[in-house]
Amino acid sequence: MRRILDVSKGNKKLTLTVYLTLIGFVFLTAFGFISWYNSNIKTSSTLFTAVFFGVINLYLLKTKYRDFTRYILSIIVALIGLSLLAFGGQDATGYLWTFPLMAMALAVLSVREGMCFAAAYLLGSFSVLFLPLGSETFVHYEPVTATRYFLSAFALCCITLVLVNIQENTNRQLRLKTVKDDLTGLFNRAILDHNTIEQINLARNERSDYLLLIDIDHFKKINDNFGHSTGDEILVILGEILNTSMRDSDLAIRWGGEEFLVILQRCPSVHAQKIANQIRIEFEQNQRILQLLQRPATLSIGIAATSQNLMFDKALSLADSRLYKAKSQGRNRVVFSE
Ligand code: GH3
Ligand code: MG
Ligand code: MG
Repeated sequence: MRRILDVSKGNKKLTLTVYLTLIGFVFLTAFGFISWYNSNIKTSSTLFTAVFFGVINLYLLKTKYRDFTRYILSIIVALIGLSLLAFGGQDATGYLWTFPLMAMALAVLSVREGMCFAAAYLLGSFSVLFLPLGSETFVHYEPVTATRYFLSAFALCCITLVLVNIQENTNRQLRLKTVKDDLTGLFNRAILDHNTIEQINLARNERSDYLLLIDIDHFKKINDNFGHSTGDEILVILGEILNTSMRDSDLAIRWGGEEFLVILQRCPSVHAQKIANQIRIEFEQNQRILQLLQRPATLSIGIAATSQNLMFDKALSLADSRLYKAKSQGRNRVVFSE
């Protein structure tokens, strides 16, 4: 569930990474040319770093965002930071640039990834500052400078991680608001945006997700005979039944009207059929519905699985045709084959 709500994170991190690498590229190119103008020896390393940011930036604009882009970016940013700290850069002031570099890496990472980054960077900088490493080539910092650098780097990591955490929670809550169905409390269609479908399609190479398309039988008659509010109450009851049948990794969506879509992730075929039948029977035998209608209400369910050669959209239309078959065979049944 949490994973699904976080999928939009990819897009936000992408925009952020594009901006930050662009800023890195512009700054470093400018510095590179200034130092070249002043015939400074640091020119090549500055321009080399500028090119690195430029390449990542172009790569992001040309191709799709993948998690490893931000991992590679943050690892290289950490290495640049540590080498600036160790070798001093211009007049031994290079360590000042490590602060924006740290902020940049932490901003493009998630909170957990950022914690790993901060731990690794702080350990690296501690080793450079306080351990007798490379005493010949490394800059020697006064103990007070070294201690202050380390403490301020630690403070920067803590503050940035708190901000990233707040941002992640806010994003998750905002997304939750737009993807919830008000009546049943399940997700609505908006949860299946481009990113989520892409995740399902990517995962289908390793394992199957089962799609259960569920439709209440003769719901129009229930509305006509017992009123719209009774109809609503039945929709809520079905929502509760679906919610209690789900594992945390599954998704229950109000697909529209009295139609629901359940996505069972990484699920064996037998288990999918068992769950579908369980839902059907539980709905049919629900005491509250029996009280309301004085007779059972029933469901028809079509099941299909995503697979290596069956994308989400195709699997969904297969589930739809099986649902149609369940209806034409007399309703109140589960259909999972042709
Ligand atoms: P079938 O067994 O073939 O599925 O027949 P059906 O009557 O269930 O299907 P049909 O598509 O003809 O009717 C669906 C009805 O669902 C019509 C619509 O008024 C009702 N409906 C859609 N959304 C809601 C809702 O939010 N609340 C209530 N109470 N009714 C709704
Ligand atoms: Mg119906
Ligand atoms: Mg329908």
